[in-house]
Amino acid sequence: MHFLSFPSISVQSLKNLYQPFGVNVDVLRLDQIHPLVSGNKWFKLKEYVKQAQEQNKKQLLTFGGAFSNHIVATAAAAKELGLQAIGIIRGERSQQLSHTLQEAEALEMDLYFVSREMYKLKEIPPVVFEHYEGHDMLVVHEGGYGTAGSMGAATILDHCDQRKYSHFITAVGTGTTLSGLVRAANIGQKIIGISVLKNAFSLIEEINALLPQPLQNRYTLLHDFHFRGYAKSTPELIAFMNQWYAATTIPLDFVYTGKAFFAADQLIKEGYFAEGSNILLIHSGGLQGNRSLPKDSLIF
Ligand SMILES: *Cc1c(COP(=O)(O)O)cnc(C)c1O
Repeated sequence: MHFLSFPSISVQSLKNLYQPFGVNVDVLRLDQIHPLVSGNKWFKLKEYVKQAQEQNKKQLLTFGGAFSNHIVATAAAAKELGLQAIGIIRGERSQQLSHTLQEAEALEMDLYFVSREMYKLKEIPPVVFEHYEGHDMLVVHEGGYGTAGSMGAATILDHCDQRKYSHFITAVGTGTTLSGLVRAANIGQKIIGISVLKNAFSLIEEINALLPQPLQNRYTLLHDFHFRGYAKSTPELIAFMNQWYAATTIPLDFVYTGKAFFAADQLIKEGYFAEGSNILLIHSGGLQGNRSLPKDSLIF
């Protein structure tokens, strides 16, 4: 598959599941794009990839932690484009690399580990500049955050019958994906973001910084569904993911979509949505993250 072209992405209807609550719910299956590099990460990278091609860059560099889906997506994108991928990774290199970093290395990304303090500064270590002649690199922010990422994410809704929906719901990490949905939505359509981070109250400013003024604050962020924080989980969350799979045959990941869809399910059952609402849940992928759960936690 070419990076800039997408296979048909399906919309799965959950008609029967939520009919008793008076709403229609569909799921946009971005998780089906690619087994490893699934979901919103492809969309967020689209514009950066175009820039790298237009500017004849030789390297694609980005930042991430040991469990970053964005790191793997960048590695895959670079490989496809014939660019050298460079990952600046938070923390020491551990003896046993995470599955995510193993995958990135298998895709020929060069990894540079920096201390947590250094990582915070988002500086490129001098050794990197020494390694790549000409250091002709395109630098992508952590998580693909940025206007280019937002514009790429705005094309997510091209893959469904957008006008049909009253609400869009997505998981929020950096909020870049959410900002793309805000760009794409029409007046009157509501966008709800579920933060997977604990007390990430600066998100609003970070998201608004990606949006033209008239679109700022045209969304709702909910902070009550982080399940103890980023990449943490609880038995309740895991139980929900299993029940949801049994009911829908849709696998969820515990870092992002499990939390977002738990929130949607709870809001629907509490009567948050008016009767007749048409809700689109964005399945943003991330399933490979489940490999860090204890075996047999999940039924899928
Ligand atoms: C990265 C990621 C998100 C968060 O996207 P942002 O644009 O950073 O808010 C959501 N879901 C999955 C599966 C992800 O990998």
